[in-house]
Amino acid sequence: MFDNLSDKLDKALHVLKGHGSITEVNVAETLKEVRRALLDADVNFKTAKEFTNTVKEKALGQNVLTTLQPGQLMVKLVKDELTELMGGETAGINLSGTPSVILMSGLQGSGKTTFSGKLANYLKTKKTKKPLLVACDIYRPAAINQLHVVGDQIGVEVYSEPENKNPVQIAQNAIAHAKQNGFNVVIVDTAGRLAIDEAMMTEIANVHKAINPQETLFVVDAMTGQDAVNTAKAFNHRLNFDGVVLTKLDGDTRGGAAISIKSVVDKPIKFIGTGEKMDAIDVFHPARMADRILGMGDVVSLVERAQEQFDEEEARKLQKKIAKNQFGFDDFLNQIQQVKKMGSMKDLVGMIPGAGKALKDVDIDDDAFKGIEAIIHSMTPKERTEPTIINGSRKKRIASGSGTSVQQVNQLLKQFDQMSKMMKMMQGGGGRKMMQAMGR
Ligand code: GDP
Repeated sequence: MFDNLSDKLDKALHVLKGHGSITEVNVAETLKEVRRALLDADVNFKTAKEFTNTVKEKALGQNVLTTLQPGQLMVKLVKDELTELMGGETAGINLSGTPSVILMSGLQGSGKTTFSGKLANYLKTKKTKKPLLVACDIYRPAAINQLHVVGDQIGVEVYSEPENKNPVQIAQNAIAHAKQNGFNVVIVDTAGRLAIDEAMMTEIANVHKAINPQETLFVVDAMTGQDAVNTAKAFNHRLNFDGVVLTKLDGDTRGGAAISIKSVVDKPIKFIGTGEKMDAIDVFHPARMADRILGMGDVVSLVERAQEQFDEEEARKLQKKIAKNQFGFDDFLNQIQQVKKMGSMKDLVGMIPGAGKALKDVDIDDDAFKGIEAIIHSMTPKERTEPTIINGSRKKRIASGSGTSVQQVNQLLKQFDQMSKMMKMMQGGGGRKMMQAMGR
């Protein structure tokens, strides 16, 4: 995410970091570079100019040049201003109303249908809501099917009327259906076009007026940069929407839309989409995003994701097993699955301060666990709980069953053995014994 921008800002600020004496000249030079980096990232021209002017003013106001660590203060000023630019505070969504109605708007291909599914799934699992998805695209039968497929995948009911050509009616009928059947959130997915056209705008404005939603979200593909910002302006003009959803941020190396949209339309980004899967949705936090852009990682989100997957009961059971020396390959598999649920490896690495930058050219393979999982799946239940019985012929069988080599099986067994020993030591004498074992 935003690799190019992060790189350029890092280079721009590098001159100041670590410099004992900083002159007005190199502050000005740095800010010029920062502005260039923002323009290269497709940030709106006016926004970029205002940004550097504000940072400059603040730098002068705080007498940056005379402070002990001027470089760091400059980085902080840039970070604070980036946060401000992206909205400052985290903006929530309005879920009042019975049911609360959420209207999705945006161009075709922006990721509206995918996001409708992600949001339904998010509300269902995180906020224990009962959402209903509504297909209001009357032009493309495929779009209705697509929403049904998404609904099936996440176990959320989809309301559609394939024969009805009146989207206002469909939306109203859906809300009535929701009231009768105990749904407390209604997510209305509307028709998009490839480009802004009057008929589409009138149609969605009519739906908007008729159903008076608690929340109108504008969905936009982050990779379209300034186009995204211009489309946002047009939709906002007609709908006065409440918030923006930036999709496909996983493929956005520039970041222009994320940085300029708030300052141009004065509406907060509320959610981001970071992949095609249903769990690739995140609440947008401006400060954390600024950290990520400046290569400072996002430890808070990382910890949050870990906590979401953390099951106290499971953890206790696991601890008991380790204490009794019963930690087996099934538990190992379980752990791998927990980690995988936290998100894609590349995404997780990007949240570790410094790691995203250091590993940006390394191809982080999300299938890295696949070989390990295949090996474990090829073991018998007894082999999983008692790995010591795995002899030469068993190894051969496991390797051929999992499509790996005996060498790979050996490697996994060795790693598992080391890990079990380490866990045992951490349980027992704490870190001291472990250090001794590691020869320190
Ligand atoms: P709609 O026409 O606005 O309903 O757009 P869709 O929901 O059909 O999405 C268009 C394409 O973008 C599909 O292939 C989606 O899988 C893909 N897509 C949607 N959101 C994301 C995202 O956050 N990341 C990535 N990489 N792809 C996405």
